Amino acid sequence: MSQERRVQLLEPLVAQRIAAGEVIDRPASVVRELIDNSLDASAATISIIIEEGGIHRIKVIDDGTGIHPEDLRIIGHSHATSKVRTLSDFDTLETLGFRGEALYSIAAGAKVTISSTPQGTLGASITIHGDTFGPVEPGGPTKGTIVEVADLFAEIPARRLFLKRPSSEAMMVKQAIIEKALSFPHVSFTMSHNGKESLFLPATSLKGRVIQVLKNNKDVVSSQLLEMHEEGEHFSISVISTGADTYRTDRKYIQIFVNNRIVDEYSFVQAVTYGYDPYLPGGAFPYCYVYLTVDPEFVDFNIHPAKREVKLRNRAQIHHQLVLLIQYNLQFNHFSRARKTTQNEDIPTLFTPSEEFLTEQPRVSWQHRSQQDSISDVHPQSQYRFLTPDESERKETWFETAKHLFQEEPKTKEPCRQEPDDFMYHGQIFSLFLLVEKGNSLYLVDQHAAHERILYDEMRQYDGFQPLMIPIEFEVERTVDEFLQTHSDMYASLGIHLERRQDLLWAIEATIPHYREMEKELIEGIQSFSSGTIEELHKMLFATAACRKAIKEGDPIDTVQAVSLLRKVFALERPTCPHGREFVIELTKEDLYRSVGRLL
Ligand code: ADP
Ligand code: MG
Repeated sequence: MSQERRVQLLEPLVAQRIAAGEVIDRPASVVRELIDNSLDASAATISIIIEEGGIHRIKVIDDGTGIHPEDLRIIGHSHATSKVRTLSDFDTLETLGFRGEALYSIAAGAKVTISSTPQGTLGASITIHGDTFGPVEPGGPTKGTIVEVADLFAEIPARRLFLKRPSSEAMMVKQAIIEKALSFPHVSFTMSHNGKESLFLPATSLKGRVIQVLKNNKDVVSSQLLEMHEEGEHFSISVISTGADTYRTDRKYIQIFVNNRIVDEYSFVQAVTYGYDPYLPGGAFPYCYVYLTVDPEFVDFNIHPAKREVKLRNRAQIHHQLVLLIQYNLQFNHFSRARKTTQNEDIPTLFTPSEEFLTEQPRVSWQHRSQQDSISDVHPQSQYRFLTPDESERKETWFETAKHLFQEEPKTKEPCRQEPDDFMYHGQIFSLFLLVEKGNSLYLVDQHAAHERILYDEMRQYDGFQPLMIPIEFEVERTVDEFLQTHSDMYASLGIHLERRQDLLWAIEATIPHYREMEKELIEGIQSFSSGTIEELHKMLFATAACRKAIKEGDPIDTVQAVSLLRKVFALERPTCPHGREFVIELTKEDLYRSVGRLL
């Protein structure tokens, strides 16, 4: 065997760069990590200054607690952290960082200068580049910490190749800041790009922050935002969202935060969708920010630093309560609007319950907003909110009330629809099958295959292109660019209208609504498809859509969701999935009686 094939330990810098690649892949990921550090240091103000999309320079300035000059010596080494000491610290983790590898990973691909002045010191600074550590020198900012990252990936050309144009990178940085800012409304954030201010988010309330972020969105008027709050066992839910009068045709603005981190928890996005389902037209989705605070013992973020995933032990319970909370609030909002409108009064922000309503519904408790426990304590905009159920008895009762209102009689989109369903849904088994009694049979319906089929039909039947208000630009590799130039009609026939903007730059101009809420996946699909037939393209696009949208095996499903899906399934002539497989099992009453030796 040749010498090169023998096992060797990697050079430390090579190992460092490989590990870093998983965490730091572009300026936005650097900014995300640096902001996390500032937030963990209790900063009240964070400024982010970038040049050339952050590729040339990123500077994050905070007024947090700072780093002790002696600690600067070990910072930038792998696993250098002040946030965890022992394994048991993970059970009570309250910081965003805990791995002690962000600065180490950033330094693997750039020159990092950290200057910091904790209270009571004169401050110090250090420059780290790969595995080279400069001396700790005296002198730092007047307060807090400045971290400067210069020439990202200058020495890793392969990684630079994956960077987009500076303007695209700057957009991603801005998005990363907005995501952080949405969880930390009491912190001020500013961003400037090439000397020009591009974001200014002064400290505010949670609702105020959502308003700041959506302020350029003409669809959303601040007075229409609803606030909802609910305490569960080991978790609490706060929701800031639009009412049933404002919506969009994609799920892009349904965002989920768990313990101050944005996560891609699709089942909660689905919960929001189902909560709104009875109140919005088909294909319409709200602007909805869901903030979950979950007991750290039930949460595990320790999956992958770059992925926005979280493991939750009480996911099904949260899902269930989220659907009910939203439906309950929308029901009141709806009721209130109807009442007020008939009285020709202004529509209020949140439903103010009338005397007779309170006596009619004695189990629901409301109280006037008090200052200390509000979720928007800086600028309280609404007058009423749910009573925070410190008395568990009250919480029980509202939850029970909600259950009666929404679980036993699921609302449908057509409020005047009177015909009752001719089936009875009995629940989900093995986290996959929906159990249904209909006529003289018992049916087991595979929820994933059923949902896939329904989506497939909907996507095929819909042929109306809808132009995107802002076309979405994306870059492609040379092979894909050439393929698209000769095959964009193939995409058009499958509901996606593409246009070439420049060399290697394309834009989605219009789509059928089914693709709207998954632009990212769609673009990834287009970027990776450089040859193939229309059937293959159709398969790829459908797989992308179904994979993103279809309820999976193991996904919790609410009665409302299940019944709505089952109605569509029973309306099908032949229930087979898009791949031709049957997904409904029928057991007749006769079979069942016979199998226990009875006669009907
Ligand atoms: P982690 O955040 O996982 O601990 P990092 O590599 O991001 O790892 O940071 C290492 C350590 O440096 C942190 O634990 C913290 O003590 C310190 N640190 C980094 N940035 C700052 C900052 N802006 N303010 C105060 N301390 C900081
Ligand atoms: Mg960190």
